[in-house]
Amino acid sequence: MAREQEKYSFQSEAAELLKMMIHSVYSNKEIFLRELISNASDALDKRRIEVLSNDEYGEYDAKIHISRDGENKTITITDNGIGMSREEIINYIGTIAKSGTKEFLAAAKDGGPQEDGSFSEMLIGQFGVGFYSAFMVADRVELISRRLGSGEAWKFESSGDGSYTIGESSLPECGTSVKLFLREPGEGEKDYADEWTLREIVRKYSDFISYPIAMNCTKWKDKEETVEDEVINSQKAIWCKAESEVSEDEYREFYRHLARDWQEPLTRALINAEGSVNFKGLLFIPSQAPFDLLMNDRSGGISLYIKRVFIMNDCKDLIPEYLRFVKGVIDSEDLPLNISREILQEDQRVRVIRRSTLRKLFASLRKLLENEREKYEKFWTNFGKIFKEGVVHDRENAQTILELCLFRSTFSASSTDSEWTTLDSYKSRMKPGQEGIYYLTGRDVSTLKSSPKLEAFSEKGYEVLLLADPVDELIMSGTSEYGGVKFLNAGGAARAETEDERKEADKKLEGMESDFAPLKEKIMKSLGDVLSDARLSSRMKTSPACLVGDAGAVSPHLEQLMRAMGQNVPSSKRVLELNPEHPVVGRLMSMARTDDARVEDFAAILYDQALILDGGSVSDPGRFTRLLADVMNSALTPERN
Ligand code: ADP
Repeated sequence: MAREQEKYSFQSEAAELLKMMIHSVYSNKEIFLRELISNASDALDKRRIEVLSNDEYGEYDAKIHISRDGENKTITITDNGIGMSREEIINYIGTIAKSGTKEFLAAAKDGGPQEDGSFSEMLIGQFGVGFYSAFMVADRVELISRRLGSGEAWKFESSGDGSYTIGESSLPECGTSVKLFLREPGEGEKDYADEWTLREIVRKYSDFISYPIAMNCTKWKDKEETVEDEVINSQKAIWCKAESEVSEDEYREFYRHLARDWQEPLTRALINAEGSVNFKGLLFIPSQAPFDLLMNDRSGGISLYIKRVFIMNDCKDLIPEYLRFVKGVIDSEDLPLNISREILQEDQRVRVIRRSTLRKLFASLRKLLENEREKYEKFWTNFGKIFKEGVVHDRENAQTILELCLFRSTFSASSTDSEWTTLDSYKSRMKPGQEGIYYLTGRDVSTLKSSPKLEAFSEKGYEVLLLADPVDELIMSGTSEYGGVKFLNAGGAARAETEDERKEADKKLEGMESDFAPLKEKIMKSLGDVLSDARLSSRMKTSPACLVGDAGAVSPHLEQLMRAMGQNVPSSKRVLELNPEHPVVGRLMSMARTDDARVEDFAAILYDQALILDGGSVSDPGRFTRLLADVMNSALTPERN
């Protein structure tokens, strides 16, 4: 028995987005066709993938058809792609299962993104609601779909008013057919049932679609008007054309189709590799990371084509993880059409493609860095954290990746030109006698900037890299040099002095050991559970104290990160270094020789201050403020002066 037609409500977020789309003042309504064709093309890709892995499904003629009816003012876009089951229609069309949708809608209501020209494009791109754009031009939409492998077809109908119906229907083969009942065109609006309007829109946005898009077109034969199907897209793969043959608009539309990104890409790279393996490629770096997660499932990665036939989306074997934000197409003549994901991993030719793609991407990034610094910095802000992972994971290319990395440093932090520096420009500023590239890791750049550990380096005019990304710790623990120059930890054993100065400073410190001993004893007695040692040091010039790790110890920042990842790491004890040149330290040393009980309180304040300067938080804020208040009180009491 046929299942009754049933009525459903759109999920509330979906209904809301749909309403925004319908009421949008966006004038570029013609993009609805681009979206529906894009969906049809995706559905054909998906069918192809399923057919490849299942021998039961036989041959078929992949196509997209546009049927226009000028009299009844309807257009129908049909594909023989994968189709949808009843549940899939409800899940994909009636629901938006995208994280961040609720938050986005709340922000939009609070006057966030405004209804300007790009708003609808953004809705479509971010939320995968391309299908809803049909409601910009139609007051009713009917979708009939039959899932590959099923005999049942289902009809979805809606006027975009918050509800839809689903009932049983029929379709001669699997696929989807979307019929739009067009609104009366308003003042200056196009008639979307008109042949030439549709031809123009397809040419503009969907020419490169690799499946034929046929439309019922008017023909004159023997002075008589007839109607015949005609393929209206060239299907020419855009990556096979020379750059001079393709307009910027065409590249943009292709990128939009590929990446579902409403913004323009930051840059692109065209690859035409000839050699042991021939392949072509067109790769894009997006201008922004996606709104929800850095890597949502729609982002697509690299699509693999073989002899211009789509094989698979998001082919992870073609590009390393740390370049997962790159989107594009790779098309090879030399791989067999029936290649499977498992074989790909092993295939020598795939490795060759991967290697030369990587080389090309590095070259493009280098070019961008050299010639379009502003764009490069945008790239870096969006994707630098991901890209840098390569230094850790791709040892073979670590030096090339480092060359492309941007860093904050004591120089760039005070520069008006750029907040970033490359390692090469760091090297060009190195002072005579400077032993290496100094770096300091920590929680954030502003804390690092005021670290006492920088003082001796600043005095020498040495630049220090300020590293605050979680991955920086890993990079530095696994990388010893860049371009023959050592990386040296300014927060660890590295020292700014020359060999001779170092010897002299150490001798001076040694001479103070006995003066320091009573203070050291008191400090270790009261802070022994958090400190492994207390010592005098020449690291600071103006601050009284700082905390450093024992050689080889895990930094507190890394410790925090590891704990955040659920690892059980014991807190490692640290070393309190004191600056004997600082009057407070000098006085404390004398005071420690007496029985004055305040020494321990003062030492505790110094420790807490050092902790704060290190980006840590005071373990007992109540005690800290009480101690400070006591100190202020005694300083302000007249008889003490
Ligand atoms: P997007 O395509 O950006 O994900 P849409 O709202 O256009 O967003 O479509 C939502 C989902 O509905 C698609 O991801 C797809 O799974 C399904 N869909 C849409 N159109 C078709 C179609 N012609 N054939 C098969 N599935 C489709």
